[in-house]
Parts: sequence; structure tokens; C-alpha cells
Amino acid sequence: AEPVLDVRNLSVSFRTDEGVVQAVENLDFAAYKGRTLGIVGESGSGKSVSTKACIRLLPRNAVIPPDSRITLKRKDGKTIDVTSLSPGSRTLRRIRGGEIGMIFQEPMASFSPVYTIGNQMSEAIRLHRSMNRAEAREFAEGMLARVGIFNPSMCFDQYVHELSGGMRQRAMIAMTLAMNPSILVADEPTTALDVTIQAQILDLMRELQDEFDMSMIFITHDMAIIAQVADEIAVMYLGRILERGPAREVIRNPQHPYTQGLLQAIPSLKSLKRRLTPIAGDIPSPLERPQGCPFHTRCIHRIEDRCDQVMPAETHATPLSSVRCHLYGESTHGC
Ligand code: SF4
Ligand code: MG
Repeated sequence: AEPVLDVRNLSVSFRTDEGVVQAVENLDFAAYKGRTLGIVGESGSGKSVSTKACIRLLPRNAVIPPDSRITLKRKDGKTIDVTSLSPGSRTLRRIRGGEIGMIFQEPMASFSPVYTIGNQMSEAIRLHRSMNRAEAREFAEGMLARVGIFNPSMCFDQYVHELSGGMRQRAMIAMTLAMNPSILVADEPTTALDVTIQAQILDLMRELQDEFDMSMIFITHDMAIIAQVADEIAVMYLGRILERGPAREVIRNPQHPYTQGLLQAIPSLKSLKRRLTPIAGDIPSPLERPQGCPFHTRCIHRIEDRCDQVMPAETHATPLSSVRCHLYGESTHGC
């Protein structure tokens, strides 16, 4: 199948006072219609940066080199390279929301505190669909009902601070989907919610993806969540994808030591044990990226004089899965 979004060789760096920070490097990933790509990694791994680059929602000091490609298949069937668009362009404004929708951990950031939920929803709807005010209101209330808000017409006239955390998240999902995006990027959408609400929101998102036949990119640090939502998984660490593959394969049979560590952090369903800290040490600062394998400072399988000097190549176990680690591939006999 042809991807809706195809990211090739994406690098993003930031110019800062302390020097250049390489946030992500040579990333390849793709999102397909009706499927969910799960991107998992600790904070600072570059997962948010790599998706924000797709709608060019990066700070001004961000640099995307010219050999990076972000190809979007638009609703009219034409493809466009998002990296070629100028930041203030009309096309980019239409793509944001109308083709690629984004929901974040904190809905307060998506809604203005000074306008009602309905006001903001109507505006967003009318930007992307030809509807008059009354039609937009009816449509917005329909979406609010669809995401499980009991009194949509009351919610329409409320302000964001009047809603509970779970209701805010539902309203943000309703507003985002009302713009009819072909891709939904969900960046830690349930992290701030308690466990029960989190499960409800995850169920809702799965239902909606199915119903709207969207492509979804789901970003989280939590392997247990990825296991519930993703069809394919990409595991990120310090700006690189270290392992990728069909979700079942990666979860049942993780290859990379980092993925193995992340999976050990999932509490078993039978025990009431709290989450363990699976991987010793902290993620290094992107300003002091280690040489060689980015994970070598924390890896229990580290091969001396190799892992700390040579960046492992991407080895394909199957055409759909790959791993970046010196324990795999043909060149394990020294360099
Ligand atoms: Fe560990 Fe070496 Fe593999 Fe990196 S390349 S994950 S340090 S074994
Ligand atoms: Mg993030």
C-alpha cells in the first residue's frame, strides 16, 4: 500500500547558544491509511520533534537539511513535499488540521481560555468545510456527542477551564476530527489522565480511527500503551530509530537491548508490582551525544571498543522489520 505520509532521511537540528543540538538524524518512517504507527521512546528521544516537523511546527532555530523528505499524499491525490513549503504559506495552513491533525497531552494548549469550546470548534470546522454558522454548530455538537460528551450543547457554550481533564481531551479529539484529517498525530494524549480515563480515551481513539479510516501516529513513552494501539512500532532513542517492525513481532520478540528494557518495564497483569526502572542510567544530553551506538552508555550487552566507536548499521530481519545493533547482522566479527 502507498503511505499517506512518507518520511525519508529526516534530520532536525537546533541552533542554540551552547552549540548545535542534533534532535533527530536520518529518520525513515511511514504512515498508512487505516493503520497506527506507534513511536515509542523516553522524553528527549526526538519523537515529538519528528512529527512536529511534518506540519513544520518547529521553533525558529530548527534546521531541516535539504536532503530530508516529508512526502504527504493530499486528499486530492496529489503528493507534496512538506519541507519545501514556506512556514507562513496557505498550503501549510490547510495541511495543519485539515490533512494532518494533532492532539497533545495538554488540551489547554489547543484551546484558548477566552473563547468557548463551540466558538473554537466552529471556527476550525468552517476553515476546513464549507458550512454556515448553524451547520457548523450542529456538526460540532454531533462530534462532541460522538466522543462521549453527554451534554454537547452545554459543552459547546463552555470554556476549557470548566471541563474535567478527560472531557477536555474528548473535546480536543472532537475538534481535531471535525476538521477531517487523513492523519491523526497523537502525542502522549493520555499521559496526564488517570488510568480509568486513559483506558476510555484509548478505546475511543481506536474506535474513531476505525470509523474514519484514518492513519494514526501515536507517540508515547509507555510500551504498555503502544502494545494496545499500534500496528507497527518504531523505537526511538537519542534521535534515532533503533528498532522497527510489526507491533506483535516487536513486542513478542524484541531484538534491540533498549526495546527489551522498555518491555521489561510493563508490569505483568497478574502481579500488583509497581513499574520497575528497567534501564539503568539516564538518557544522555543531546548536546553530548555519545559516539558509536547511542545506547552504549546504558547497554548491558555493550561490546567493548566497538559499540562505543562504531554506529551500528540498520539490519533487516525481515523486509518490514529492522534493528540497529552490533549484536545482529553479518559484521559481528570485528571492524
Ligand atoms: Fe548494546 Fe552495542 Fe547493541 Fe548498542 S550496538 S545496543 S551498545 S550491543
Ligand atoms: Mg514529547
